[in-house]
Amino acid sequence: MKQLLKKLSEAPGVSGNESRIKEIIIGEIKNYVDEIKDDSMGNLITIKKGSDKFRVMIAAHMDEIGFMVKHIDDKGFISFETIGGFDPRSLGSQRVRIHSSKGEILGVIGLKPPHITTPEEKDKALKVEDLRIDLGLNSREEVENLGIKAGDSITRDISFSELGKENIVSCKSFDNRAGCTVLTELIKKIKNPDYTLYGVFTTQEEVGLRGAKTAAYGIEIDFAIIIDSTTAGPIPKTEADKVTISIGKGPSIDLMDRGFILNEKVKDILTKAAQDAGIPYQTHISGGSTDAAAVHITKEGIPTAVISIPSKYIHSTVEIVDLNDLESTLILTIKAIEIAKNKLK
Ligand SMILES: [Zn+2]
Repeated sequence: MKQLLKKLSEAPGVSGNESRIKEIIIGEIKNYVDEIKDDSMGNLITIKKGSDKFRVMIAAHMDEIGFMVKHIDDKGFISFETIGGFDPRSLGSQRVRIHSSKGEILGVIGLKPPHITTPEEKDKALKVEDLRIDLGLNSREEVENLGIKAGDSITRDISFSELGKENIVSCKSFDNRAGCTVLTELIKKIKNPDYTLYGVFTTQEEVGLRGAKTAAYGIEIDFAIIIDSTTAGPIPKTEADKVTISIGKGPSIDLMDRGFILNEKVKDILTKAAQDAGIPYQTHISGGSTDAAAVHITKEGIPTAVISIPSKYIHSTVEIVDLNDLESTLILTIKAIEIAKNKLK
């Protein structure tokens, strides 16, 4: 799992530009599925055909938060829009990759050095509109000669690394390449199911669950599990009721978020699955939302669960996950399908 997670999290795939991620996933799963489809939102829909009496969708979003080129000024500085939820404080002093028609170009989001920052500026909150990307060039013309223009996507440039232990790793975009990694492994692992399995890699989750809406509508589903990432600790100097789960203690069965409440019947299936599989699990109430918000109210409604992979410093370039939690997420998801097949059919 580690190599796949590294490959997927280092690769670029801002909302609306997920094709690189899709290519990697197709390369991994093409020999394990009966059908691969695409829809107009760019969702990657894979099918393993079994009985039509029970149809399961396991979904994970492919997109990451990032930026889009907005304007290039006379001196060659690039202003940009954010795509997805950023804390502006996390944006300064970053290296970024601009994906232009001529290839990838590196730039930095620089901050004024402390030597020339006034006390008022030091106390002021950083705003995205005050930041620029600097390629070290001196004119708009030089920047445009690199093929850069408004609308190009921009990703954060950081490499995957192992931290204090070999199972503790850090990179950007574990939200939700961690989920994509688990779903890819699940597709490889489930052989000849007696149900039909839709492995769906969605687009544009970070900007409003847009891909999941069309993906869920386009197929008939009896049960859905969304695999995503969620805020976990321990995070220093954070109140206990702000971050209630930790990395390394198993996946979270999400009880509620801003767009979804776990129904009792599905909750029983999930907790029984965790107990039967003998894996650690946690539950929590998330402050965000996931593709489940769109999926569970599709058509007449779909019994849906969210299994979240605990992640520290989510939506930054230094997210941290425990690979053991990814393994447990995989086991829990497979077990939950087996139980749901008997209880929901
Ligand atoms: Zn996510």
